[in-house]
Order: sequence, then structure tokens, then C-alpha cells
Amino acid sequence: MGDDMTRRIARFIEPFRVTPGSRVTLAEDFDPAFKAGIEKKKDGASLLNDGITLLSDHQQRLAAQGTHGVVVVLQALDAAGKDGTIRHVMSGVNPQGVRVESFKVPSGRERDQDYLRRYQERLPARGEIGIFNRSHYEEVLVVRVHPEHLVDEKLPAASRRHHVWKHRYHAINEWERYLSDNGFRVVKLFLNLSKEEQRRRFLRRIDLPEHNWKFSAADLRERRYWDDYQDAFSEMFSHTSTDWAPWYVVPADNKWITRAVVADILTSSIRDLGLEAPKVSKEKKRELAAARKQLLSE
Ligand code: AMP
Ligand code: MG
Repeated sequence: MGDDMTRRIARFIEPFRVTPGSRVTLAEDFDPAFKAGIEKKKDGASLLNDGITLLSDHQQRLAAQGTHGVVVVLQALDAAGKDGTIRHVMSGVNPQGVRVESFKVPSGRERDQDYLRRYQERLPARGEIGIFNRSHYEEVLVVRVHPEHLVDEKLPAASRRHHVWKHRYHAINEWERYLSDNGFRVVKLFLNLSKEEQRRRFLRRIDLPEHNWKFSAADLRERRYWDDYQDAFSEMFSHTSTDWAPWYVVPADNKWITRAVVADILTSSIRDLGLEAPKVSKEKKRELAAARKQLLSE
């Protein structure tokens, strides 16, 4: 990737990065309708197209080197567009190099384990991109908004009483530092949707028969806790945006912006790993020449 392109992307994604150590108030600091200078859907689509090509190129390097892995953490409220973002942004990437892991309410077996274990078990291998559709951050989001989950998780009473969120932020930061030291880059994306746009998208799901399957009454119930979630997000950003794994808050009211921004953040994060395009050794070149000769002589 040329220096100009690198600089352009760095400038484009900078406003979305949560500065490590800063105190965040989501509603004041990030606008879900921000357009990043892209006024037309058409321009967003062409930006996304370029982004997809670049990302595919970088994913090939990641796979060829086989030394690093990328964990993409995708968090958002319902209807923010997580699934569509995965589908569109990953559309140009070799499917063999990507896996998507979705996390739901923990199963009985998972609740018999410490809370980070199930996330550890579904990490990507070196050379792969693993997308966490929801992630370990649910443990300080839905669980914080509904603390009765801590009882379901069978956390001992003493651990529940003492600074449970502070401890979880700390454990998560350290876990991500450990991953990063081991060659696994954690890229954290929050799709930031407004309450009004969520209302519109829920109504669409109800009004359009082909979208009915996406609607769930549980999502509507969760909407009642909107303000509690906004607070939990603000706390999460304030405590878990780190130098080794910063958060990005991506505007989600316009899907074409979301997707273009996400593609560029992923490309830039892989680029930062400093992976070289695969080189061919002298020995390999000899092997290729010999093979060529053999095939030509058949
Ligand atoms: P969806 O992704 O829309 O299929 O919904 C999955 C549901 O699982 C969401 O309501 C999440 O809040 C919930 N969920 C995911 N992880 C956890 C967790 N660790 N504890 C409790 N609920 C969770
Ligand atoms: Mg849902």
C-alpha cells in the first residue's frame, strides 16, 4: 500500500478512535449520524469497494506470513447492522482465512467455567481473521445492565460484591495485552446507532414481510434499557480503550458509512502489523524452475 493511501486511511479513521485513557460520554463525544465528509451513498459505496480490495490484499499477507492473527470484536445494540457489515466488508476476502464466531447467552456448561474461557476457546489461529459477533464485552454490557446474570454465571458472592466491573475491565485489558504480545491483534469496533434510527429499523422489520424474521420481541424489551446501555458503553470505552487494543466508535445510522469505515479500520490494523508481502527464496526459485522444465518436457 502506497504512503499516500496509508496516510489517507489513517486520517479517515482517526476521528473514530477512542483515545486511550480518555473519559468518554458516548452521546456527547460521538455522533451516530456523522458522515465523515461522505455525503452521497454512491461515494460511500466506491470507498467501500476500494476498501474491500485493500483488505483482501492485506488478508493474503496475513495468511501467507502465518505469524499473526486478527480478532475483530464487533459490538452494537440490536439493528445496528453487525451482520450486514460482516457480509459486505468481508465479501472480497478469501473465506478460508476468516471465521465468524457468534456469542449468545452462555450455555449451562459455559456457566460452569470462568467467564473469559469461551472467548479464549474460539480465538482465530495465526494467519486468520476471527470475527467475534458479540464478544467478551457482553460481560461488561448486558451483564452490567442486568447484574442478575452474575448469579446465573455462578460467580461467588464475595467476587460479586467487590468492584466486579473494575476487575473485569482490568482482566479484559490484560487478556488483550497477552494476545497482542503473542501476535494477535484485537480490533474493537462499536457500531453506534441512534435511538431514533433503531426505532425506524425495528418498524421496517415489522412492516416488511421479508424482514419479519429479523424482529424479536426480546430486542424491543432491551430497548427499554437504552440509557443504561449508553452508560455501560461509556464506562467500557473509558476503561478498555488501550494502546494495544483501542476502541473505534463507528457511526451506524448510515450503513454505507459504517461499512466503508470498518473496512479501512481493518486494513489499517493489519497494515500496522508490518507484514511483508510473501518473498520467494532462492531455493524456491530453483524448485519452480525445475518444475517448469519438467512440465514443459511432458
Ligand atoms: P443475537 O446476537 O441478536 O442473536 O442475540 C444474542 C443475545 O445473547 C443478546 O441479547 C446478548 O445480549 C446475549 N448475550 C451474549 N453474550 C452474553 C453473555 N455473556 N451473558 C448474557 N447474555 C449474553
Ligand atoms: Mg438480536
